[in-house]
Amino acid sequence: MRYRTLKGLQDILPPDISVWQHIESTAGNIFRTYGYQEIRLPIMESTDIFIRSIGETSDIVEKEMYTFQDKGGRSVTLRPEGTASFVRAYVQHHLYNNPAPQKFYYSGPMFRYERPQAYRYRQFYQIGAEAMGIEDPKLDAEIISMLGRLLHSIGLEGLNFQITSIGCKKCRPDYREALKQFLKDKLENFCSDCQRRYDLNPMRILDCKVPGCIESRKGSPPLIDYLCDECEVHFDGLKKNLSKLHVSHTINPNLVRGLDYYTKTAFEVTSDNLGSQSAVAAGGRYDSMVDEFGGPPTPGIGFALGMERIIPLIKESLNITEGPEIFLCPIGEKAAEKALVLTEQLRSEGLWAEMNFDGTSLRSQMRKANKIAAKRVVVIGDDELEKNKAVMKNMVEKEEVAIGLDVSEFIKTIQNSDVNTHN
Ligand code: ATP
Ligand code: MG
Repeated sequence: MRYRTLKGLQDILPPDISVWQHIESTAGNIFRTYGYQEIRLPIMESTDIFIRSIGETSDIVEKEMYTFQDKGGRSVTLRPEGTASFVRAYVQHHLYNNPAPQKFYYSGPMFRYERPQAYRYRQFYQIGAEAMGIEDPKLDAEIISMLGRLLHSIGLEGLNFQITSIGCKKCRPDYREALKQFLKDKLENFCSDCQRRYDLNPMRILDCKVPGCIESRKGSPPLIDYLCDECEVHFDGLKKNLSKLHVSHTINPNLVRGLDYYTKTAFEVTSDNLGSQSAVAAGGRYDSMVDEFGGPPTPGIGFALGMERIIPLIKESLNITEGPEIFLCPIGEKAAEKALVLTEQLRSEGLWAEMNFDGTSLRSQMRKANKIAAKRVVVIGDDELEKNKAVMKNMVEKEEVAIGLDVSEFIKTIQNSDVNTHN
């Protein structure tokens, strides 16, 4: 084979695409009921947008970005996630002038130069949501509840919602010191990245995926014990309101996110059925980012879910088989011409109609009808043409109905059988 997709990238083909469409349309419906509007953002941005927000010492920025110079000598990066681009757009277009909360959602490909493995790709798709302008933890509870509803409507079960608070600029310095104190005499057990992070950004050590580092940081003080009063009250509010909305959750004090911009609420949804890449969705609050991007201080909260991790969890149970409403099987050239006109007329009535083109035997045409999951078949031969009558065979109900060779009769029969099937 001469050409293949790049490593870590994949084509999404039918019939899998119908699972993708199912997720996208279900998500779109849920977003609508919560007042989230769709936005579409560019796939690349100026590199510093990601460095500034995600953080210089994060794995994403240090190792995973697709960064290159364009022909004008600018450093551009294929977006590794959606929130930084979103906040850039939020500030650029003064979206903060609309009544709060302003709510948006997006979907599309993200790019990270990671080691490809099961459920981990270099181009992967996220659906994300962002709600801006409200600090109240009721909004945090609402968005987490919406995520639960969304995942449930898609057909996912057996999920664990883990939440924590990772504090704010006020509580971090104390925690930083406590953490450094804990790590101080264990440093030689950590990877060279973590040793560098010790001075630059010790909290990043908590997110390192190197097994030795995971082992060595066991027993480190949890940030949740160092929250300032404001963050503590906020976190209590989140827990209370999640319970009011019946969102079952566990508090995971060890939860850290791979991005520097989070403040206060952080959460992750995991599935028991994904092995080590168990996070299907994750998010949190980012109350300083708009400010840092040059906008008026504005709190925000958002999440993103990973399509590739959701698809395998629902694919088996979904059983979406799509086939045409009607498949015309003409025998002979004259019948084929008639079928061409009929299928076109059926489509103008909004039906998915197909005809067979290759003039093969009736038997092989019927085999094809089964293969493409056609719901109904009409054979048109010399006899049918002469009498202007035919038989519509319902492939699902295994029934046959005599009909005139005429679109309005076709439609009537299809509508009748749909009514019967739905009863
Ligand atoms: P992980 O811990 O798996 O590396 P992450 O913390 O880097 O995830 P986020 O940046 O929070 O992931 O992205 C949100 C979601 O996007 C993840 O929960 C996951 O479902 C999905 N995701 C992230 N990276 C990838 C990837 N390389 N391939 C497929 N899905 C991914
Ligand atoms: Mg990651």
